[in-house]
Amino acid sequence: DLALDLSGIEKTYNKGKPSEVMVLRGATLSVKPGEVVALVAPSGAGKSTLLHIAGLLDTPDTGQVRLNGRDMNGLSDKARTEVRRADVGFIYQFHHLLPEFSALENIVIPQLANGADEATAKARAMDLLTRVGVGPRADHRPAALSGGEQQRVAFCRAMANAPRLLLADEPTGNLDPATSDQVFAALMDLVRATGLAALIATHNMELAARMDRIVRLDQGRVA
Ligand code: ADP
Ligand code: ADP
Repeated sequence: DLALDLSGIEKTYNKGKPSEVMVLRGATLSVKPGEVVALVAPSGAGKSTLLHIAGLLDTPDTGQVRLNGRDMNGLSDKARTEVRRADVGFIYQFHHLLPEFSALENIVIPQLANGADEATAKARAMDLLTRVGVGPRADHRPAALSGGEQQRVAFCRAMANAPRLLLADEPTGNLDPATSDQVFAALMDLVRATGLAALIATHNMELAARMDRIVRLDQGRVA
């Protein structure tokens, strides 16, 4: 089964208003298990919209969304939320970590919400942090970490529940070029080690070239 299979996705915002904008016009895209795909497009082209639809945060006007071979179109909101929690990990340009909790706790909390017991969740969180080189700083709050470390923690949080699909929106876009390079390498190591499928939106062609395949979003379609 394909990890992600989008076909004929159309999405218009502000339908019927003067500000109506058709962002996706029949976008078709798939990602195989273990495959890392770069989604490249200029700002405003609809990358975030496509990622939100792929991750069940938004619904298309028309078109089909399949995750791991399962049709998502007919599912209730509750069922979509369950699939999203268990099978999809999100990474944004900004880390969105909870400021009052430690790095470790930020990775433990989503596991507890997904039904894990505390000891297992802590061990997994520590393993993930160690893999990305933030193990020694596990007890620090996000504000005490560097930008690159914060983003590494956000990667670990996205992987906390062992998703089958990772969706990333400019995961290193907020970092300086040298840090971006290191942090991206840590992300790729983590993705390869877990064997999950990933769709990673980026403007950075050097990073895109290090993925398995590049797809371009142009005029609302995948070129
Ligand atoms: P990208 O991620 O490629 O920058 P987005 O998917 O964020 O593109 O946005 C594509 C277009 O849709 C932009 O013109 C944006 O202003 C518009 N847009 C995105 N989300 C909404 C929304 N919730 N309501 C109205 N317009 C939106
Ligand atoms: P991020 O942290 O990557 O910005 P968000 O989930 O906050 O992620 O937003 C994703 C994208 O969707 C953003 O690029 C934003 O421009 C667009 N977006 C979300 N809501 C709206 C909206 N109401 N109007 C226009 N664009 C929106």
